[in-house]
Amino acid sequence: MDPMVDLHLHTTASDGLHSPSEVVAMCKRLGFSTIAITDHDTMCGVSEGMAAARGLGMVCVPGVEINAGGCPETHMLGYGVDREQPAMQALFQRMRRARVRRVERFLENLAGIGIHIDYDEIIADAGSEKSIGRPHIGHALVAHGYASDLSEAFGKYLAKSAKTYAPREKVCLTEAISTINKAGGVAVLAHPALLHYDLRTVENTLIYCKKLGLGGVECYHSRHDRETAGNYRRLAIKYDLLVTGGSDFHGGLPSRNLPPPSPGDGLKHFTDGDRCAALLIDEIERRRAALGMAPMF
Ligand code: AMP
Ligand code: ZN
Ligand code: FE
Ligand code: FE
Repeated sequence: MDPMVDLHLHTTASDGLHSPSEVVAMCKRLGFSTIAITDHDTMCGVSEGMAAARGLGMVCVPGVEINAGGCPETHMLGYGVDREQPAMQALFQRMRRARVRRVERFLENLAGIGIHIDYDEIIADAGSEKSIGRPHIGHALVAHGYASDLSEAFGKYLAKSAKTYAPREKVCLTEAISTINKAGGVAVLAHPALLHYDLRTVENTLIYCKKLGLGGVECYHSRHDRETAGNYRRLAIKYDLLVTGGSDFHGGLPSRNLPPPSPGDGLKHFTDGDRCAALLIDEIERRRAALGMAPMF
């Protein structure tokens, strides 16, 4: 059965190549019923996405993917988050400033090897709430002919191994989870396979995060094979965590190391996506009610 649900999608609000409305329209064409927009460290694309989805008879869950610490970097998805909640707003603002500083550091490092790119070129609407990241620098490097494509730009200038690399400031895991919870959301550990841990260490991470308030695990992801997804699903059930799945779509051309080229990619084993999405939405509403917030859907 083709997937009907994709709970991990990026847009131009961060480093995706398509606007929230475009992503929603693509998902509609693919026949999806429920989706979630989960940009990095910002929710400035969710209003547009939710409105577009409503107009097309779909459900769009407001989400975010927080680039949390430590080593390896751990990504925490937040679903049903109230983006106006003061602690959440403060976290987004802090991350935005940190991202700007990081891009500036990259540009200084690039200037040090004779590559001059203007900050204004990285993002035209620099004052906006959009999250900037390495892919934005990568696209500028390609446009200037310093790399033939994004993958090469990463390899030569943006990867951790590159001389011009600048490290990221991260939110700690405790703060990421507690802030999502305070804002009425459900915290879900994103793509555990990308942590490159063995299964026992993933299990320990889940036990640790559950104590911090974790609500679910992204068992299905474009970089999880069938066996991996099954293992994570068993762990989710064992620790009473919600099961979710998402492609991590960013747009762009198919490539081995890049995020998938279409929403829904890599989710063919997520056959009960509708049921999992319904349980996630129930949990969001339950938490909102407990915090005295109005229903979201
Ligand atoms: P940042 O958040 O600024 O550290 O950038 C991370 C983002 O860069 C990821 O979400 C991916 O979308 C993208 N990315 C990571 N590695 C690569 C790569 N080798 N080639 C192209 N894009 C990449
Ligand atoms: Zn990304
Ligand atoms: Fe991620
Ligand atoms: Fe992502």
